[in-house]
Amino acid sequence: MYNQTSTMANKALILLAVFCLAQAALGVNIISKSQWGGRSATSKTSLGSYLSYAVIHHTAGNYCTTQAACQTQLRNIQAYHMDSLGWADIGYNFLIGGDGNVYEGRGWNVMGAHATNWNSKSIGISFLGNYNTDKITAAQTTAAKGLLSDAVSRGQIVSGYILYGHRQVSATECPGTNIWNEIRTWSNWKA
Ligand SMILES: [Zn+2]
Repeated sequence: MYNQTSTMANKALILLAVFCLAQAALGVNIISKSQWGGRSATSKTSLGSYLSYAVIHHTAGNYCTTQAACQTQLRNIQAYHMDSLGWADIGYNFLIGGDGNVYEGRGWNVMGAHATNWNSKSIGISFLGNYNTDKITAAQTTAAKGLLSDAVSRGQIVSGYILYGHRQVSATECPGTNIWNEIRTWSNWKA
């Protein structure tokens, strides 16, 4: 028996399912700065859209495997960047914990302080830990790739963006050997 109401309901359900799948594919869950107890920036410089670069870092500090431990690290790093270095905010646009979560740093469309001469041309993403010894997990890789896809979908970076490790643009060992070996396998990485 034909039932128009239930057919429409089915169509609505199918559309909802497609929408949710699209969101899951593109979106990434970001823990906001207020959620991790971060302080507001003392000033902000806007960052342009459709940038050509993303730069990957590590914090070279402690690794963390729980949200509570990662949030403590974030507050410590922010205090160091603001109180000791005198920066306006935590240096990076986003950070990724060993718990697989993405944490908001300066966020979208705010210029970071992460790579000299590259801050206005790139977004800076940093992994919490020292990856000369700490290992990057599959969950962290998924989170980073999801964040980069999100950055493309919202027009922060272009779809053909170039991915660099910090050591490619500055004299530093950052982002550590283990992340360096991982990101060189990602499709947007360039030698
Ligand atoms: Zn770095």
